Amino acid sequence: MEEQRNDGAGQGILAVIGGGPAGLLAAGRAAELGARVVLFDKNPEAGVKLLISGKGRCNYTNAEPDIQQFIAAYGKDGRFLYSALNTFGPDHIQAFFEARGVPSVVERGKRVFPESRSSSDIRDALVRYAQDGGVQFRFGEEVRDLSIAEETGRIRRIVLADSGEPVGAVILATGGAAYPRTGSTGDGYRFAKKLGHTIVEPRPSIAPIRIRESGIFAAQGLDLKNVSITAWIDGKKRDERFGDLSITHFGLSGPIAMDFSRDLLDLMKEGPLTLTIDFKPALSYEMLDARFQREFLKRGREEIKSVLRALLPEPMVGVMLSACRIYPPTPAAEITKEERQSLCSHLKAYPVTPEGLLGLNWAIVTSGGVSLKEVEPKTMRSRLVPNLFFAGEILDIDGPTGGFNLQICWSTGWVAGEQAAHLLSEE
Ligand SMILES: Cc1cc2nc3c(=O)[nH]c(=O)nc-3n(C[C@H](O)[C@H](O)[C@H](O)COP(=O)(O)OP(=O)(O)OC[C@H]3O[C@@H](n4cnc5c(N)ncnc54)[C@H](O)[C@@H]3O)c2cc1C
Repeated sequence: MEEQRNDGAGQGILAVIGGGPAGLLAAGRAAELGARVVLFDKNPEAGVKLLISGKGRCNYTNAEPDIQQFIAAYGKDGRFLYSALNTFGPDHIQAFFEARGVPSVVERGKRVFPESRSSSDIRDALVRYAQDGGVQFRFGEEVRDLSIAEETGRIRRIVLADSGEPVGAVILATGGAAYPRTGSTGDGYRFAKKLGHTIVEPRPSIAPIRIRESGIFAAQGLDLKNVSITAWIDGKKRDERFGDLSITHFGLSGPIAMDFSRDLLDLMKEGPLTLTIDFKPALSYEMLDARFQREFLKRGREEIKSVLRALLPEPMVGVMLSACRIYPPTPAAEITKEERQSLCSHLKAYPVTPEGLLGLNWAIVTSGGVSLKEVEPKTMRSRLVPNLFFAGEILDIDGPTGGFNLQICWSTGWVAGEQAAHLLSEE
């Protein structure tokens, strides 16, 4: 251990490591309760990931009113959040931002956004809250290590690039390992592991889906509105999502692909998984077929590719004709019944085989992290190191899209800040 000595200088200082949503709220709450708080972030400013969340609009929580339903969204580990959500749940964070001049608005799926649809309003309100409490910001400073006093098992010092600083308590809010270019490079896992914590292997949770067939890649860059994807195993329907989808050079992205991705790896373990995309969910197969018959009759002399352009986004025309093996200049009147039916089938159920998710570099959220068994759910305090607390994505819990992941940060951040402040005031 680098530092065994306690000269008393850091007693009472709470070091919050990470200036994302969890760290900012934790720091602000602790300071509000009178703690002396120093917040470190290796980025030059606060909340870099928060700023890009929800495509810069920041879907910061979910308005699901039933707490049991809310907890169920996190799966079996949701129980861990029960107490923290009761202490500081979705209503509390909405009221928190309202009180700081950031009213909210609820969109489809009970997704809550700032009315301005601007994540910087959320980030700035958090920064002001922390500043008002007197939090000292140390941006651009990377914490390299934490050192423990062997006689007490407590963290005594944080190690920076050229120096070290004594501390009374630490909140680790360093985020997960997803989207590491925002600063969340998994440092907190390394610190926690060194202090004896178990790290459940970090994996991508919400991430774009890689698919095997390259035919659809020709439509890369296309954003589709109101389509649906259905998951099948051995001919049985296992899942279905409706909404917006993006086609990329490796597969599928956009809201419904991301939403579904959280369940994809588990489903892939159960058997050969196929996804079908319905590009026209508002029309039945029969309605589509009747429409094609009408159009092909009316515009029989025109090439099939131009007739389809009236019905489909341009990049999909080539994809569909190639999937149905139809020569694009064929006059519409010469399209056979089989070819027309093949077009209908592909538009209603275009099959693709998922191969997995894009890695952590492109994931929105990490699954895995600091094992929940070693963290007290009522306080977010480590069961192993008495003056260590955790908040946010570093914990081994994650939720679906819809604001559930930022809510983890608010609930755990608030509780960790409050409890760390209590610990320091008692000492
Ligand atoms: C593109 C994108 C969109 C998203 N959209 C949404 C959304 O709309 N709704 C939603 O609920 N969730 C969304 N998420 C997820 C959500 O943003 C994260 O779960 C959340 O930011 C995690 O917060 P955190 O405070 O735990 O960690 P982070 O926000 O990752 O912050 C951790 C901070 O710790 C700092 N740090 C790490 N190591 C060190 C060190 N050694 N020393 C000093 N500082 C360090 C990092 O620089 C970073 O700033 C999105 C994520 C991405 C990538």
